[in-house]
Amino acid sequence: AKQQGKDNFQLYTPEMNKKALEQLVLANHLHKALNRDEFLLHYQPQLNLKTGQIVALEALIRWQHPELGLVPPDQFIPLAEETGLIGAIGEWVLQTACTQNRAWQLAGLPPMRIAVNLSARQFQQKRLSKTIARVLAETGLDPSYLEVEITESIAMYDVNFTICILQELQDMGVYIAMDDFGTGYSSLATLRRFPLHTLKVAREFVNDITTDQKDAAIIKSIVALGHGLELNVIAEGVETLEQLKFLHAVQCDGMQGYLFSQPLAADAVTQFCQQQSAG
Ligand code: C2E
Ligand code: CA
Ligand code: CA
Repeated sequence: AKQQGKDNFQLYTPEMNKKALEQLVLANHLHKALNRDEFLLHYQPQLNLKTGQIVALEALIRWQHPELGLVPPDQFIPLAEETGLIGAIGEWVLQTACTQNRAWQLAGLPPMRIAVNLSARQFQQKRLSKTIARVLAETGLDPSYLEVEITESIAMYDVNFTICILQELQDMGVYIAMDDFGTGYSSLATLRRFPLHTLKVAREFVNDITTDQKDAAIIKSIVALGHGLELNVIAEGVETLEQLKFLHAVQCDGMQGYLFSQPLAADAVTQFCQQQSAG
């Protein structure tokens, strides 16, 4: 039995070896991608449902791989987390997003926040608020035009530590959003302790709001909860006019989704915003 434990290669099928090998190759490529300038950001506008204005843009990373083409984040962010590369990639995202937002402001676009997704590993680094402060200083972006998005799992990993970092960010004037709200395990007692500005309701709940009474009830409750805690509530993944009407009716503050706009390349954002403000 002992021998089976350590030397039992039967556990590993050829497919698993192939997968492991692919991961290794990808990790190796990922390592070089930063220096080769292969990452880019797309930006998805967020609409305020009361004023009709674009209030924020969420920065979403893509990897322009020379052979694989445009690789979506789901396929490399987990790997970047495992290998620790997420630290450098995350800082690149912050730097690029803040630089871009400053450039849009200087070009005369209406001021909007830039929302950046933070990953768990990145959040556990001690100097996150220092890094963010430095990036803001270097890019000249006012902190109130940066928003960070964290998930419940990040928040719940070490509650007191998270609150401490978020408080530092809020004191600086940075906005804070809880992403994919409703899919994690944060308790309401904990939620009220986090310094937040926004709840982003996960797409899972938004999908069926017009056909599923339970999902409709969940959204209504989240809006009421958010407003009770003096937070903005944003719905993600809005794809239909019916969903939009429903969200408007239940006083949801904002929305993001294909109905309004897909994530756009930087130059397309400029055009999109100019068209919007021209009416
Ligand atoms: P997320 O933060 O929940 O981002 C929203 C995802 O939903 C994006 O996918 C976006 O393109 C997609 N989406 C937006 N509107 C709609 C819609 O109406 N319908 C549908 N079906 N989908 C919609 P994307 O860009 O593939 O990003 C996937 C995830 O990767 C993100 O989920 C986020 O967790 C992660 N991610 C993206 N960029 C970064 C980054 O810079 N850093 C980190 N740590 N994670 C990132
Ligand atoms: Ca997000
Ligand atoms: Ca989300």
